[in-house]
Amino acid sequence: MAAHLRAAGFPESDLHSFAVPEHPKDGGLVAVLPGTDHGAKAILLLAHLDVVEARREDWTRDPFTLVEEGGYFYGRGTFDDKSMAAVWVDTLVRLRKQGYKPKRAIKMALTCGEEAGSAFEGALYLVKHERQLIDAAFALNEFAYGVLDAQGYRVVMEIEAGEKTDQDYRLEVVNPGGHSSRPVKNNAIYHLAAGLTRLGDYEFPVQLNDTTRTYFSRMSDIVGGETGAAMKALAADAADAKAAATLSQDPRLNAMLRTTCVATLLEGGHASNALPQRARANVNCRIFPGVAVEDVRRRLEGIMADPQIAVTTVEPSDPVVLPPPLTAAIMKPIEQVTHRIYPGIEVVPVLQAAGTDAIYLAESGIPTYGLSGMFVDPDLSNIHGLNERIRVQSLYDGRDFLFSLVKLYAEEVR
Ligand SMILES: [Zn+2]
Repeated sequence: MAAHLRAAGFPESDLHSFAVPEHPKDGGLVAVLPGTDHGAKAILLLAHLDVVEARREDWTRDPFTLVEEGGYFYGRGTFDDKSMAAVWVDTLVRLRKQGYKPKRAIKMALTCGEEAGSAFEGALYLVKHERQLIDAAFALNEFAYGVLDAQGYRVVMEIEAGEKTDQDYRLEVVNPGGHSSRPVKNNAIYHLAAGLTRLGDYEFPVQLNDTTRTYFSRMSDIVGGETGAAMKALAADAADAKAAATLSQDPRLNAMLRTTCVATLLEGGHASNALPQRARANVNCRIFPGVAVEDVRRRLEGIMADPQIAVTTVEPSDPVVLPPPLTAAIMKPIEQVTHRIYPGIEVVPVLQAAGTDAIYLAESGIPTYGLSGMFVDPDLSNIHGLNERIRVQSLYDGRDFLFSLVKLYAEEVR
């Protein structure tokens, strides 16, 4: 990608590759197209280069070869996130070749380690060590798209404005144990099991913010019916319990409405003929923006209602950040480009329950929005799964979409 940019005329001084010696196969690239207005803050285009693992033997086609077939590009990363990385590079190449001089600088950061937490986290590295290099008024990132219905018709253009915090907690009961021929009531596994049952029955309170209120009010007419009515009612009154109950039946909507916590791992006991000395569960929470990690830990303690169950936060904990603001300066260009390329399609902001690099940028003071302008099938192109794909048309429409949007933002300085 650096070679493409070099060939387009980017001088070496505007290309910055980065890596650390502990991860010789990882690394990333920052490129800068300087702006003419030196008082104006840059915009940052973000994408990650790494992908989720793919087992060759399980795929229909080689996951590491780009295959075009039946209107789709197949391959690991075709959707998540090489499509956007490629479009950003293509955008910079085209702008440079046109001799285009943006008012504000356009920066691009291609990162690594987004998918696997243990690898070299490129975005976190940039925030910690190259903050000035990526400094920007706001950033555009992955993880929101246009939604197609099962027949392939366009439904709505989603943009991500806010992410929940992904946080693990450990529940643990320790006990002196003993011989299983002489059971006692005070049993580590039973304590934990009873606590988990209470967690399974518990629902965190409904919360709304600007993003979700706008989502529900704009989606209500598009969705219609009982769900649409419930969306309208909830957007008007966050305390409408009946509307919340209706929407909570859909796992995606439920995740937008509240903090969620779910048991994901379980271990206990040490021998088939011994009373358990230990029982432990991992609880994965997706915390509503703005709620403190410690508040959720205390809430879990309250739900357990059993002093024998110790609730601890699994470190390191992710930052909790508030959603980026839905200002006219951000939304108008998105709506303008959407209406030109996809007439009749509404733009709706969503709160993302899963995390991306946006959380690190947001924590460091760069408001980060997710949008690709690319329409995706209802199964989300099977990202992270088998036979990941993207519609060829979606990729090229998204290319036009993002190119036009970047130009609008680059001109508009306030
Ligand atoms: Zn991704």
